Amino acid sequence: MEVKLLTTPEQFSAMEYNAAYAMLICHANTDKLQSEKPAEFLKRAIKAEHFSVLEHITLTYEVNNLSRACLQELARHRHISLSVESTRHTLKKKLVDDFIENEVIGNDMDKWEYLGWFRNFASKRPDITNDELKYYLPEFWPTNLILTANIRALRELITKRTNPAALEEFQDLARKFVEAVPDEFKYLLEDCVHE
Ligand SMILES: Cc1cc2nc3c(=O)[nH]c(=O)nc-3n(C[C@H](O)[C@H](O)[C@H](O)COP(=O)(O)OP(=O)(O)OC[C@H]3O[C@@H](n4cnc5c(N)ncnc54)[C@H](O)[C@@H]3O)c2cc1C
Repeated sequence: MEVKLLTTPEQFSAMEYNAAYAMLICHANTDKLQSEKPAEFLKRAIKAEHFSVLEHITLTYEVNNLSRACLQELARHRHISLSVESTRHTLKKKLVDDFIENEVIGNDMDKWEYLGWFRNFASKRPDITNDELKYYLPEFWPTNLILTANIRALRELITKRTNPAALEEFQDLARKFVEAVPDEFKYLLEDCVHE
């Protein structure tokens, strides 16, 4: 699975400033931003669990080659926005025309055997629609998506999903959300990562 942060460092920086400004508005102290960096105020906000100010920072990620099993779990988080590759528009093309080796499927022969059957089934039924075909989809089917979420929602997700009790693929995804963030902003998320 690949995770890329689409939010640029410049956008990140502007949102970080706004979040610190929002925090200081609460006590009519915005002039303090002239002498201290926004990060210093936001570190204090995290320590004080004043998490609402973190909602002013919203990140957008591109995620490729995630299993539909993991997508199903990801979609349970209600404060994230997702745009997911549509099976209605891509399934037959991906299965019959474009199918190539894929890291989600890996070297598992049972999965390839199932896909061989599935591909053969789809090829023999040219009139079948993608909406009918999707009921045969295995949960290991790889998908691509864009995710947007604010830092508060990401912290919630990372806390739950880096826990060893979570699905291993989701643990990997949650850690990659943190790794994809430029070092100077990692303080916003890294304390949520399970050791
Ligand atoms: C290890 C693990 C095992 C799991 N096993 C199962 C399982 O067997 N079956 C299953 O169905 N799910 C399972 N889940 C999913 C889990 O139940 C949640 O759906 C998922 O983790 C999303 O978390 P959430 O609902 O706390 O928060 P989110 O949807 O991410 O929302 C964040 C927070 O906002 C608040 N919030 C959101 N919506 C509401 C609301 N309507 N009312 C009040 N407060 C709200 C809550 O404080 C919530 O924690 C599992 C999750 C994990 C991590």
